[in-house]
Amino acid sequence: MSDTERSQMEINLNKVFCPKCDEKMPALLRIPKNIQQLMWGGWTCPKCDCKMDKFGKKISE
Ligand SMILES: [Zn+2]
Repeated sequence: MSDTERSQMEINLNKVFCPKCDEKMPALLRIPKNIQQLMWGGWTCPKCDCKMDKFGKKISE
């Protein structure tokens, strides 16, 4: 396994926190709310409704 592959795995396994309220997102259970979310593979925070991508980076609409 190359270093690049390893770091990509680590990113995917990392816990993601809401950039706004620090709510922890579920690691594996992700129910996409719409087609966009399905494509970017992110979350919508259940607490503050903030949208983020799979790295926990806030997505501005
Ligand atoms: Zn939040």
